[in-house]
Amino acid sequence: MTNNKTAPASGSILVVGGGISGVTTALEAAEVGYEVFLVEKNPFLGGRVAQLNQYFPKLCPPTCGLEINFRRIKDNPKIKVFTLANVEKVEGTAGNYNVSIKLSPRYINENCTCCGDCSSVCQMEISNEFNFGMNKSKGAYLPYEMAFPARYVISPQIIGTEDAKRCREACKYNAVDLEMETKTIDLNVGAVVWATGWEPYDAAKIDNLGFGRYKNIITNMMMERMASTNGPTKGKILRPSDEKEPESIAFVQCAGSRDENHLPYCSYICCMASLKQTTYIREQYPDARIYIFYIDVRAPGQRYEKFYKKIKEDENVFFIKGKVAEVKEDSGTQNITVVAENAVTGEKTLQNVEMVVLATGMQPTAADVKLPADLKYDENGFIINDFEKGGMFASGCANKPADVVSSNQNATGMALKAIQTLVRR
Ligand SMILES: Cc1cc2nc3c(=O)[nH]c(=O)nc-3n(C[C@H](O)[C@H](O)[C@H](O)COP(=O)(O)OP(=O)(O)OC[C@H]3O[C@@H](n4cnc5c(N)ncnc54)[C@H](O)[C@@H]3O)c2cc1C
Ligand code: SF4
Ligand code: SF4
Repeated sequence: MTNNKTAPASGSILVVGGGISGVTTALEAAEVGYEVFLVEKNPFLGGRVAQLNQYFPKLCPPTCGLEINFRRIKDNPKIKVFTLANVEKVEGTAGNYNVSIKLSPRYINENCTCCGDCSSVCQMEISNEFNFGMNKSKGAYLPYEMAFPARYVISPQIIGTEDAKRCREACKYNAVDLEMETKTIDLNVGAVVWATGWEPYDAAKIDNLGFGRYKNIITNMMMERMASTNGPTKGKILRPSDEKEPESIAFVQCAGSRDENHLPYCSYICCMASLKQTTYIREQYPDARIYIFYIDVRAPGQRYEKFYKKIKEDENVFFIKGKVAEVKEDSGTQNITVVAENAVTGEKTLQNVEMVVLATGMQPTAADVKLPADLKYDENGFIINDFEKGGMFASGCANKPADVVSSNQNATGMALKAIQTLVRR
């Protein structure tokens, strides 16, 4: 609650970030009757969860959970969604914020039926960022099958080319609008919830772990995409250098996390993510050997602990307690040798594998570029919730590293905090 007792000038809430946390905050507030503006910089909602193959601990596809939420948004006239939208400025005080939002053109309007004809005629291919650049997509594309809003996007890279014209001509529904321009809209809201989430820590910054130098070293988020049937390898886990089915894979835990030179904190989810990813490998390769190099395995709570115990029963999953010091590539086979000091035996361990997954952690999106509002951050860029001041709150991974369940709980709490700002007397 805030100390300021003047009546709020606006009864609306702005939620910035359309990942699972932002979507949850928006729905919780709208379903008790508040008007909510949900602003997402990507052309689709869902955030990082949309890129996952399965959720731990249940191992169901995240699209199930997202789809239900998208339906709730669709059915709720209280929520107005803006995609390709960036907040430019937030001014004012709790109960009365003036906000400017920049809307970038999608070049496709609401007539789109997702028939895909524009994509079929488009010749130019662009890097597929949803798949971390592991493959390409057409210049006119749907970000992913279950994308919400279900509407194609034209990349600015093809604007002004013959391809753009071809897309317009191919569309039978008059949905391609190449004249669309950037717009700015102004809103007055009473509370703001920042649900701006996280970015995977840039593995190329971890010099000793070889990412970017050796092809057969990928990150955990790349593994999520590779294991997804809508991913770059159509769900098949293959080592990048030669598309071989890997017989041995190592996971390097705390890749960048719990390291004063990179992220000093524990990223909370990457132990569970690697345990989950061993199940992806096991499903495809019953005999593959999996080596997990860890400092401690963090599987918080009873359900996660149970999941961990189950993985430990697999006799071809080897847990090695030891921080990885370096990785080397055999230039002939392109296999990787992982070098670590075994903290239990005190010996140096050298493990040769066909592929390595770096369990990289989470960095808040505001770590590098601060948000255009009067917010407090900790030394790592996570937004600190200042409940004394009130009015603006952070939910989910914008506030701390978290799994989906904790993000949802926190997002629900922040919906309540936003509502309290609006109803105070
Ligand atoms: C490898 C890996 C596997 C994982 N697997 C699981 C799992 O199985 N189960 C589980 O519970 N958790 C898992 N997680 C954790 C899960 O991804 C997070 O809990 C979840 O993404 C948190 O959601 P969020 O909405 O807070 O953030 P995000 O998912 O990052 O969403 C933030 C959204 O805000 C948008 N945004 C950012 N900045 C702005 C801005 N300035 N303006 C507008 N929009 C903005 C982003 O585009 C994004 O859509 C995994 C994490 C990793 C690294
Ligand atoms: S923009 Fe037109 S051609 Fe492209 S998917 Fe939508 S309806 Fe089909
Ligand atoms: S969750 Fe595990 S891998 Fe991730 S930083 Fe914490 S201890 Fe390291």
